[in-house]
Amino acid sequence: MQSPLKTTCCYCGVGCGILVHKDRQGKLQVEGDPDHPVNKGMLCSKGMNLHYTVMDTSDRLLYPEMRYHRNLPRQRVSWDQALERTAAVFASVIQKYGPDAVAFYASGQCLTEEYYVVNKLIKGFIGSNNIDTNSRLCMSSAVAAYKMALGEDAVPGTYEDIEKADCILVAGANPAWCHPILWRRVEAAKAANPQLKIIVSDPRVTQSCSIADLHLQINPGTDIVLHHAIGRVLIENGDVDARFIGAHTEGYLKYETSVMQRSITEAAAICGVEVSALYEAADWIGKADGFMSLWTMGLNQSAAGTHKNLSLINLHLITGHIGKPGSGPFSLTGQPNAMGGREVGGLSNLLPAHRLLSDPAHRREVQQFWGGTEISAKPGLTATEMFDALQDGRLKAIWIMCTNPLVSQPDVRFAEAALQKAKYVVVQEISSRPETLRYADVVLPAAAWTEKEGTMTNAERRISYLGKITDAPGEALPDAEIICRFAQKMGYKGFDYASMEDIYKEHVQLTAGTNIDISGLNYEILRAQRSVQWPYHNGKGTPRLFTDHRFYTGEGRAVIHSFGDDHRSEPLTPEWPLVLTTGRIRDQWHTMSKTGKVNKLKQHIDSAFLEIHRDDAAGRDIADGDMVTVTNQRGEVRVIARCCDTIKKGVVFLPMHWGKILNNDLHRANNLTSKRLDPVSKQPDFKFAAVQVTRYNKP
Ligand code: SF4
Repeated sequence: MQSPLKTTCCYCGVGCGILVHKDRQGKLQVEGDPDHPVNKGMLCSKGMNLHYTVMDTSDRLLYPEMRYHRNLPRQRVSWDQALERTAAVFASVIQKYGPDAVAFYASGQCLTEEYYVVNKLIKGFIGSNNIDTNSRLCMSSAVAAYKMALGEDAVPGTYEDIEKADCILVAGANPAWCHPILWRRVEAAKAANPQLKIIVSDPRVTQSCSIADLHLQINPGTDIVLHHAIGRVLIENGDVDARFIGAHTEGYLKYETSVMQRSITEAAAICGVEVSALYEAADWIGKADGFMSLWTMGLNQSAAGTHKNLSLINLHLITGHIGKPGSGPFSLTGQPNAMGGREVGGLSNLLPAHRLLSDPAHRREVQQFWGGTEISAKPGLTATEMFDALQDGRLKAIWIMCTNPLVSQPDVRFAEAALQKAKYVVVQEISSRPETLRYADVVLPAAAWTEKEGTMTNAERRISYLGKITDAPGEALPDAEIICRFAQKMGYKGFDYASMEDIYKEHVQLTAGTNIDISGLNYEILRAQRSVQWPYHNGKGTPRLFTDHRFYTGEGRAVIHSFGDDHRSEPLTPEWPLVLTTGRIRDQWHTMSKTGKVNKLKQHIDSAFLEIHRDDAAGRDIADGDMVTVTNQRGEVRVIARCCDTIKKGVVFLPMHWGKILNNDLHRANNLTSKRLDPVSKQPDFKFAAVQVTRYNKP
């Protein structure tokens, strides 16, 4: 057995360090890296079984495949054939319809180097901004809110704040299942400090509630009302930090007027919680020396996602709980490298190093650095807009890399119909499992975790290096290499990198002088130090931002925003009277193309189900274990009912992982979800769809 090789888990944004042991036969074993600052040797069930996803190559795509006509099957071809034909098709579409007729849809699971080259390709050389990723479905509301409040897409704190906080508000998240190792740190902090108060706001009683001192079981969509009510009590109790507000923020007086408009009694009724619970939560926050908030999709995946995020960040700004140990708003990243993707500008409205597409000076600077075509000022299509554009014919060719939209898109039957209308579909993938492959004209086999090197950035801005440990099967190639080979087939200069490290060097050069400056960083430092939090100055990372209370806004003041508390979701009706919310289960990851291969991970929950309150079930003559149909105007789902009293009445829950099984799409939660978008972040409203549930009687 060789000495273990160090890498990072490729699932969630916690970013745990992993040691990979490889024996003489090439067999892998994994364990948590005891020296990694994130997980200190721990791994969750998904991380512990990662090696099986690499060793089992039975589902892997081994060779490029292509078809010359939709009615013909794909055939094995060489890389040159696949990329030359794709380059010819893209060139012809661009010439005939313009650069905005092509798009790249990528993933928060791509490495930073991969994101960098695909972003450079389309924005800097093709001349369109049509690149977006599945991170749009996950983090974009948090990004928008950080930018509006703090002047930068930057998580202020660090995981070490967990151990220093004395009040943690977990909002719209179930980290016990979805960010398990981070949650173990919260559990350990609670065990070490019984005075630590944990508040969870969620319409469901989740595993995370098991250590909560207070569970605010709010009605779906009422997060802003809740946060405003807590803000009001903090003001009334004199628990705001007047000195901090005066010196370091703007917008407070308008905020105070705005939150005073709704009484606490009224707010409690809207949220569906006790008045006393609101006072208790506000009291704990107000008395805390360190107040931290952790949140994910319950706030982000909403038609009012940006406002939900801002309303929570406001609680930190009025109490001065930011930029100091144990304090700060902390959005938990869903995917392992959503943050790294944004660092290189991998969204349709961004440029590298968080530069703005809307700023002509930024566009010029990047264009001169890349030496390509003029960068278009027109924002590109976002994740869901790409499918709208396929549907109405504006978009002709789409390149889907490392993501499975036919499970993960909202209103997914619409997305599937739209994809069928595409003139040309490229799918760059590791596995033959994703549904998207059915519609692929070209399939490009990609290397998986341990088969390529690069970097990722976790939820606390921590950049980790991932080394190549095993060879990819067949002819599979690293994603960055595929994109670079294609760019060269298109005739573009500047994609002849000798290594991944060369790509990284170019990326870090572009960060010089920006808020996320890592210009002194390289692979050697990352290998030696294991990980570094950006920005990186004078040989040191930055665990905590805003310690001087100067924010990245023009005046250096954080902005307290004021707005109404409407959730903007679709209305319930007599026909569709229940709220559907969707989410993850403990042992599966996204659309299961990796975790679905591991039998051990099916032992926890092996099939899709509907969680429904006993009273809602009884009123519909539904018993636990019955097959039920969940419907709305967009589609239907048919699964087993799990009747419980841990979900709010009037709310039902479906896990989001399952797609089609053979030709049956009736386990696919996103058949029902809504394409309503937050107007700022363009993030869809996955957590609120109006549905009906009935018992299914076999015909
Ligand atoms: Fe991987 Fe996340 Fe589990 Fe850590 S908590 S092992 S990063 S899935």
